[in-house]
Order: sequence, then structure tokens, then C-alpha cells
Amino acid sequence: MQPRELSAHSVYRAGRGIEEVARELGMDPDELIKLSSNENPLGPSPAATDAIHECADHVHTYPKTAHSDLIEAIAREWDVEPRQVWLANGGDGALDYLARAFLEPGDQVLVSDPGFAYYAMSARYHHGTVATYPLRKSDDFEQTAENILESYDGDRIVCVTSPHNPSGRELPREELLTLADRTDDSTLVLVDEAYGEFSDSPSAIELLSERDDIAVLRTFSKAYGLAGLRLGYLVAPTSWTDAYARVNTPFAASEIACRAGKAALGDDAHLEETSKLVAWSRAYMHEQIDARTWPSAGNFILVEVGDADAVATASQEHGVIIRDCTSFGLPECVRITCGTREQTKRAVEVINECI
Ligand SMILES: *Cc1c(COP(=O)(O)O)cnc(C)c1O
Repeated sequence: MQPRELSAHSVYRAGRGIEEVARELGMDPDELIKLSSNENPLGPSPAATDAIHECADHVHTYPKTAHSDLIEAIAREWDVEPRQVWLANGGDGALDYLARAFLEPGDQVLVSDPGFAYYAMSARYHHGTVATYPLRKSDDFEQTAENILESYDGDRIVCVTSPHNPSGRELPREELLTLADRTDDSTLVLVDEAYGEFSDSPSAIELLSERDDIAVLRTFSKAYGLAGLRLGYLVAPTSWTDAYARVNTPFAASEIACRAGKAALGDDAHLEETSKLVAWSRAYMHEQIDARTWPSAGNFILVEVGDADAVATASQEHGVIIRDCTSFGLPECVRITCGTREQTKRAVEVINECI
């Protein structure tokens, strides 16, 4: 017996972990700096860590109140109704719920190339098809409605990432509005704001009070430093009423994730410290790296190095793990996450040596 035909499905390749690389190179994990997965170098909010310890004794019960408490806190944060918040096991989990709620077999999803791999993976798991629109390096990865509409063919969902991973480029508000206006009534524009906290632009969530053709994805994995907990959410238009209740798994996020997420959401100091550090690190890398870089609104920077595989391998041998962007279709670029001041300086030294 065999599972269904899966040859069109690709395997997600995450940035490599410290233990994995250390073992392979015969190094001490403490000697390595990991700047390959856009994680928060300051770690989780201390308030979240406390909440995790506090709820450890209660994990024998299903997370009911914790789930609704966090949804209410998120709804207050964005001034939306609780039923608009689709809590999930990571932003990735929220993408799955969206696909479950939206896609009929054969419906097409339009995604950027280069771009985040999971949009296409999730669409295919849910019997959808995938088409791409190009973001061109020759245009500095500029995101415009016109550019996306050139590839648009009545797709059910159009995914935009702002700030975009791996380029760091944003889709301006006017462009988003033009895109949503010029696509069909049956097309949803999904705005992925996984890196929204690092940008100065306002969230597209504010548009949901007037529109039902935009949804916004957010995560606790990046700015909140909770990637290991797996917690993210979609903010949906009010008119979708009870769609979430009809498609979510019975307990969409764990007790620990919900309690920690709520504590992190209330820890403004940690978020502010993180944002300040990222702004410094990204400017420092942009100025100091002896290769072409692009301005970034995320917690990472894209660098054109020539042979990304060779540079990423050499950098790793010097103890700095960075992301080779070959899997994004950019075999000449690497992506470097903003680290602490010390890590950032070390990374710049190593990169400049390797290129
Ligand atoms: C990291 C990331 C996400 C979500 O990650 P989760 O850990 O699943 O919350 C979504 N979109 C983009 C572009 C990302 O880089």
C-alpha cells in the first residue's frame, strides 16, 4: 500500500540547527553563531519564560481558557473582534487553516518567486495548484500591484509577504489596495507580516474594518522569540464568521504556547529592545559588508556573494551559520539574520573574509 501521489510535494528545508552543524564540524555548539533562521538573538521575553514555568504543572488539562484568553488579548492588541483571530500552531499552521477554509480542489494560489516555501506546500497538501509571480533582483525585488497582476489569473489566494523573505522589501500600502481592488471578488489577498514588528509601516490589519478580501498573517516566532513554541495567527475579515471554528483542530495551540504568547504580547520592553537591536544590526551589516546588500525591513539582510554555497560553507567553518539562498532560487545570495552586537560584528568579519 502507498500514500497518495506525493511527487509534486517538496520537503521543507529549514535553516540548519546549531547542534547539527556542531556535530558535523566536530565543534562545541557554544562556539557557533546561528544567523540562518531569523530567530530572535535575545531569546524569548522573560515574561514568556516565567509563564512557561508557571503553567508546567497544569498541562494535564486541555487548553481551553488559555486559548480564549490569548485570542482576546490579540483582538485587543489589534482592535478586532476575537472571532477574527485564527490561532494556530505557528504561522505555518494558520496557512493550513486558510487553505482548508478556502481551497476547493484545483483552486490556484499565486505566490512570489523567490519566496517563502510553505505557501505552495500548504496549497498542494490541500489539493490546490500553485503559480508564481517573479520578484526580480534586477528591480531590487520591488513589490508592485502591476507586477503581481501580470501573473494573476483569477487565483483564489494571492500571497504577498511584507516585509518579504528573503529580500526584506515591502509592498507599499497603495500597492496593496490597488492589488486587492483589481483582483476578482473571489480572490483573497493574504498579507504575510511575519516580520511586521521590524517595519515602520502600519499593519494591513487596519484595512480589515473596511474590506473582506484581505487577511493578515502574524507570528510569535520572530520578534517575540518564540519560534520553538509554534504559535502564530491569521487575522480574518469579520464576514467569514465561524469558518475558523469549522476548520481548526480541536486545540489549535498548546496550553504552554497560549500562556507564553499572552505574556510575550504584554512585554513591550522586550519587543522594543529587540526592534532597536535589529535596526542597529541591519544598518551595520548594510554599511560594513563588502558586497551588494539590499535595504531590509525585516530582521535579516540579503547579500550577493557570488557562490552562495561556497560562502555559506566557508562561513560555517568559521563558526557563523548563514542561509544559502539557493533553495529560494538565488544561488548567488545568502541571507544573514540580525544577531546581537557581538554576533553581528563577528558575522561581518567572517563574511568579508569569505567573499
Ligand atoms: C517565519 C515565517 C513565517 C512563519 O513561521 P512560523 O514559525 O510558522 O510562525 C511565515 N512567513 C514567513 C515569510 C516567514 O519567514
